[in-house]
Amino acid sequence: MFKVNAIQCLKCRDVIFSRARHDYRSCSCGKTAIDGGFDYTRLIGSYSEPVKLALIVTKKQLYDDWNNRTDKYGKIEMKEITNKLNNAKIKKVKRTSRKRIG
Ligand SMILES: [Zn+2]
Repeated sequence: MFKVNAIQCLKCRDVIFSRARHDYRSCSCGKTAIDGGFDYTRLIGSYSEPVKLALIVTKKQLYDDWNNRTDKYGKIEMKEITNKLNNAKIKKVKRTSRKRIG
């Protein structure tokens, strides 16, 4: 588990984080960006309070993701988050609607 500083763009609601010192990561709308990797954090634009995001990846995986331009990490689009929340809601509804036996 690896913790990174992440911010959310107030306009498009994407959550972004920097994967390496020179990784300048911007959101979908381009209004907000984060830079500096794990050594320091530089924030650009209009964003929420930074949060610590726990990721199930290593520092090297994040670095390689940036270095090889795989771009699997660094940006969580709002539609992805909404999907996850919706899935969680469906699961919760199913659980509460289940009747107790006995
Ligand atoms: Zn944005």
